[in-house]
Amino acid sequence: MSMVTITCPQCSVDGKMSLLDNRYNGPYRCWKCHTALLLVMDNAEVISCTPMSEEEFTHHMELKKQRDRMNRD
Ligand SMILES: [Zn+2]
Repeated sequence: MSMVTITCPQCSVDGKMSLLDNRYNGPYRCWKCHTALLLVMDNAEVISCTPMSEEEFTHHMELKKQRDRMNRD
């Protein structure tokens, strides 16, 4: 598990997230300005971090929940 730093493209504040894998493609919310972001990481490095709508964020949270459920089985 590794800790990665995500810099918010909206307010430039640094946030931290723990990764089980070195890859991630999913939702992230800035702790400071609460912007919904779509985060893509590979090799524990941020590839892209783009703002998305609340609707998209909810959709991605659902996908993540499904993925997490599958990983448990
Ligand atoms: Zn922010």
